[in-house]
Order: sequence, then C-alpha cells, then structure tokens
Amino acid sequence: MIDPFGRSITYLRVSVTDRCDLRCVYCMAEDMTFLPRVDLLSLEELDRLCGLFIRLGTTKIRITGGEPLVRRDVMKLFRSLGDRLVPPTGEGLHELTVTTNATQLARHAETLREVGVRRVNVSLDTLDAAKFTAITRWGKLDRVLDGIFAAKAAGLAVKINAVAMRGVNQDEIDAMLAWCGEHRFDLCLIEVMPMGEIDGERTDQYLPLSLVRSRLRRRWTLTETGYSTGGPARYFDVAETGTRIGFITPLTHNFCESCNRVRLTCTGTMYMCLGQNDSADFRDLLRAESDDAVVEAAILAAITRKPKGHDFVIDRRQPSAAVVRHMSVTGG
Ligand code: SAM
Ligand code: SF4
Repeated sequence: MIDPFGRSITYLRVSVTDRCDLRCVYCMAEDMTFLPRVDLLSLEELDRLCGLFIRLGTTKIRITGGEPLVRRDVMKLFRSLGDRLVPPTGEGLHELTVTTNATQLARHAETLREVGVRRVNVSLDTLDAAKFTAITRWGKLDRVLDGIFAAKAAGLAVKINAVAMRGVNQDEIDAMLAWCGEHRFDLCLIEVMPMGEIDGERTDQYLPLSLVRSRLRRRWTLTETGYSTGGPARYFDVAETGTRIGFITPLTHNFCESCNRVRLTCTGTMYMCLGQNDSADFRDLLRAESDDAVVEAAILAAITRKPKGHDFVIDRRQPSAAVVRHMSVTGG
C-alpha cells in the first residue's frame, strides 16, 4: 500500500474497544459515554479485516484502545493474529504488539508472550502513587507496576510511554528515566495532543519536549540514534543507563513525512491520519458479507486519500479539541 506521497503503509494500529478502566485526564472526560456494543466489530470481524490488511502489505500490527486488555476474550484475537506471524525475512506480519495501561497485564503477560508478542508499550506518566491516581482518576499505581513486572518476567521487552505535562510530571522525568534505566525499559515521552473534549484545558497541560530534552541533557548524555520501532518517535541513547529515550513530538516537530501507519477503530472505521477527520468505513461492507476483493479495494481506495500531514495546533484562542474524536476511539 503506497499513499499519494510515496509513503509505504505497513503499520496498522487497531483499537479493539473504546472502553477503559481508567479515565486519564488528557484522554477522557470522567463521565465518558461509550459506544453501544452492537456498533463494535466482533473479534472475528476484526481478525478478518486485519488479515486483509496483512495481505495488502501490513507488516506490523499494534493492538490498542481504549484499554485493549479489558475487551472480553481479546486473547483470541491475539492468538489468531499471532498465528499469522512470519520471520522478518518473509512476506506477511512481522510484528504484533500492544499498548496498554497495564492494569490487566499481570494476568495476560504470559499468554501474550506465548502467542508471539515480544514487546509491549505501557502508559505510565508518574511513579508517585497519589499523582498516578490524580492523572488516571481511578488507577492504582501498584497494580500497574505488578503488570509491568509480570511482563518483564514473561520475557517481554517493555517500553514506558509517558505523556509530559506541565506542572504535573515535568519534575519527575529525570527520576522516571533513572527508574527505566534500572529496570532496562526504554522510555518514550509524548506531547499532549488536542483530541476530543476533556474536562480541563489542554493549553494548561502542554509541555514542549524540546524543553524537556534540553533539561535532561544537564544530567544525562543523550546521543541521537537512527533506532526506530516503526513509529514516530526519535530515539536517543542514554549513556548512563544503556537504555533509550524517545520523543514523540507531533506539535513541535512535524512527524508526518515518514508516516507509515493508518488506524482502525473498533467499529471498523479507518482513519488515514490521527490528526485529520477523513475516514473510511468497512463495517457495512463486512456485514454485507462482501468478498475479500471488495473490502480490499475499499482499503486501497482509502489509502489514496491519506493526507500529507495533520493540522494539530495548541492554540490558546481556540482551546477546544482540534480533532473531535478522543484518542481512545482512534487508538493511541
Ligand atoms: N489504554 C491504553 C494505554 O493507555 O496505553 C491504550 C490506549 S491510549 C489512548 C494510548 C496512548 O495514548 C497512551 O500512551 C496515552 O497516554 C496516549 N494519549 C491519550 N490521549 C492523549 C492525548 N490527548 N495526547 C497525547 N497522548 C495521549
Ligand atoms: Fe484509558 Fe489509555 Fe485513555 Fe488512560 S490513556 S484513559 S488508560 S485509554
């Protein structure tokens, strides 16, 4: 799948549910309304659609949400996708990964490893228990740490994703990097993106990572590397820890030029760009029992509409969401 700008689209992010057991302040309002269950694709429908994407050249699938591990029987989907994994030299799916808040990871880590998952991304913005509960509204830090260490024990490589927030965790980033180094986890920092209505104002949360990086450089020796996980992060080696730190800067650095991904929601809608509203729906096609060729043609047609880049801006005069849907719908 090649888009109109010559980018090869090989990475599919699949949101398997919009529901979550947490309510992170930058992601959701506390009283979120979730989709009716009938609107959701079944696990079989998701599996079929993923299979078609793989046939069209997708080599990497990340399962996300909402919180993917709260979807009932989601391990069936992991198992079925895991069966499609081939070695990196072969044609087909090379990598299956997951982004999770880790509340359910302790009970799933072993199975994930068994079905072929090798790396997990865990979202964790702080190591302070009270702050963790304040950010996630409902979360318990201990439970998440149990999940993270269960993943490590199961042999999964763990990457910690932290959203950098002004006045919330900005003073803790040094400590998080040290903690990640101690446990051999890479750390990836993310800027707050203007997606979906939340209860507060995002301009209050926004912290440019260029600032964070220059502060980190006072204590750590950071050397830029060409390392990539196929995502938008720019990675640096941290000499003192032997681990890496990545920066995802959708706002301060245009990360669209090398974009290789599209996103599929739990209702079967594909967004060609996280930061644009254009989409293509496949659910009706699937439910009309269309042939594979028809669905594949619809996927290819949608790829031709992939835009050059996003329109995110954090604007004090326009504090509302730039993209109306929440990250939990599109999948982070
Ligand atoms: N529930 C899972 C989790 O938290 O890892 C997966 C879905 S979550 C939407 C994926 C990622 O998106 C998380 O790392 C989260 O911190 C990030 N995220 C959510 N809303 C965001 C926003 N407005 N700006 C930047 N990152 C956001
Ligand atoms: Fe849930 Fe993840 Fe959103 Fe937090 S960031 S509310 S854990 S979906």
